[in-house]
Amino acid sequence: ADAVPLLELRDLHVFYGAIEALKGVNLTVGEGEVVALLGANGAGKSTTLKTASGMLSPRTGEVLLRGERIDGIASHELVKFAMGHVPEGRRVFARMSVLENLRMGAYRLRRPDPDDLDRVFTLFPRLADRRRQLAGTLSGGEQQMLAIGRALMGKPELLLLDEPSMGLAPLIVQQIFEILREINEQGTTLLLVEQNAAQALQLADRGYVLETGQVVMSDQAGALLSDPRVRAAYLGES
Ligand code: ATP
Repeated sequence: ADAVPLLELRDLHVFYGAIEALKGVNLTVGEGEVVALLGANGAGKSTTLKTASGMLSPRTGEVLLRGERIDGIASHELVKFAMGHVPEGRRVFARMSVLENLRMGAYRLRRPDPDDLDRVFTLFPRLADRRRQLAGTLSGGEQQMLAIGRALMGKPELLLLDEPSMGLAPLIVQQIFEILREINEQGTTLLLVEQNAAQALQLADRGYVLETGQVVMSDQAGALLSDPRVRAAYLGES
């Protein structure tokens, strides 16, 4: 039998009032993998990540981390699970310094590890240079780096990333994806939501395509990259 996946979403049904945003989503992320979640605006990608990290509760269905059910656990209890969520739009603490933001990321740990800060500064030298600067005065790319760095300070086994490329210049997107690859090579599993399907599938091992709250395709990243339907719908080809 296969090993228990690190994350498993089973038949998730999630509602906003009367609107059913997820209509039976199934998805697994194996330890060490990079998994991309693709889909158009409103397909339910952010809702899937929020349900995985406990920000939303499914009406029915299950969220399992290493085979242990975590849906329905209060979010303050969820901190004991090694999951980091980098939300859409970055959400850094604008009036705190870079260093203060990073320290906030370690709140989950009883004993913060000083090596973690060095690791983040090695991955993101720009943050080291700007450690005293207020986060609100950073560029968009630097804020995205800070949001990722802050999540890493909690020593996540699994990092959920919601559109890390949003609103950023292509060169910065390239840099961020290179760093995500490095983070994965250092042992962190990634579940990545992206509008930038080409970029995401180049990094990912596997991918899922969501349409109106349902998984309509799932395959190895290379197979999705060459699939004519994916190319037409998400890679801007006809
Ligand atoms: P985007 O890239 O635009 O964020 P998405 O794939 O992440 O898209 P979701 O944000 O998960 O999509 O939204 C899925 C569906 O749920 C959409 O129809 C959206 O309008 C609806 N929805 C999302 N958040 C809410 C909310 N707070 N209240 C009501 N409906 C919502």
